[in-house]
Amino acid sequence: MTATFIDGTKIAEDVKDEVAREVKELQQRGIRPGLAVILVGDDAASSAYVGMKARTCEKLGLLSRKITLPGSIQTAELKDEVRKLNEDDSIDGILIQLPLPKHINKHAILESVDPRKDVDGFHSSNLGSLLLGHEALVACTPYGVMTLLQRSGVNPEGKHAVVLGRSDDVGKPQAVLLMHANATVTICHSKTQNLGDVVRQADIVVAAIGRTALVTGDMVKPGAVVIDVGTNKVSDRPTVERLFGTDPIRWQDFEKRGYVWAGDVDELSVKEVASMLTPVPGGVGPMTIATLMKNTLTAARMRRGI
Ligand code: NAP
Repeated sequence: MTATFIDGTKIAEDVKDEVAREVKELQQRGIRPGLAVILVGDDAASSAYVGMKARTCEKLGLLSRKITLPGSIQTAELKDEVRKLNEDDSIDGILIQLPLPKHINKHAILESVDPRKDVDGFHSSNLGSLLLGHEALVACTPYGVMTLLQRSGVNPEGKHAVVLGRSDDVGKPQAVLLMHANATVTICHSKTQNLGDVVRQADIVVAAIGRTALVTGDMVKPGAVVIDVGTNKVSDRPTVERLFGTDPIRWQDFEKRGYVWAGDVDELSVKEVASMLTPVPGGVGPMTIATLMKNTLTAARMRRGI
């Protein structure tokens, strides 16, 4: 069997078009949803992500505000910046770009965001609502994965879904969303024994562990749907060769940038066994940004009761 690739870029474009249309409608009523992104420090990758989010906002007609703060800022001062955005009526969504510098109390900062503006869905109030099945802002990556499944015609009901990873921002909410979609869910983590045996039982695999190509073809049940959340930078030639063979596009990227992106799933072996697979890049990544835009729109509506 050769898997069909789920085109995350195309599905994300469709979602963004829908958001742009809804933003236009809101603008006709005098409402322009706004997203504020707080960037602490000068990490190049974080800065690039924030730039991408701002450009997407502008393209879709959302108001975008970027707040750049020095890496030396303390938790109390950062909380104060968040408070200002909580009180700012032109802002519907607040995103704290992670990771934060080590000396900052991440939990205290994420908890200081008004849950109604928590477009990342990381506030305990939103995570609690998600668990209870109440209306909530849901973390962008796992919510994006659900959209990918739905728009690819994959209904989790009655299926066995295995989620690899139990992080607060991906694995845990992913497992809850799949459970709410009536899948039977197993969560794996670094202490799981006989990982291959567990993953082989899955009809749907979601890999979110940050370990390059850990999920291999022999761990996947024939016909399973495999969603690869992992984004790992690979910058050594032998690994690129092992993972991608002579694929000219990967090598072009490698020669240009000195690295390529690889997922948690070994694409070469898994695509021979799975029925569907998300590519890295071009799978879950674009959906995460599209879902952030959708969440900002949802936050704008929820806050106004429309
Ligand atoms: P994280 O916070 O580091 O969590 C990793 C999880 O994987 C942990 O629960 C860990 O288990 C588990 N794990 C680690 N090694 C394992 C192993 N050998 N076997 C089984 N489980 C293992 O990472 P994250 O934030 O969830 O992100 C996971 C990956 O997704 C990363 O590559 C990240 O870059 C990527 N990501 C991509 C997007 C996107 O938009 N494409 C968004 C978010 C994250 P323990 O709990 O036992 O330590």
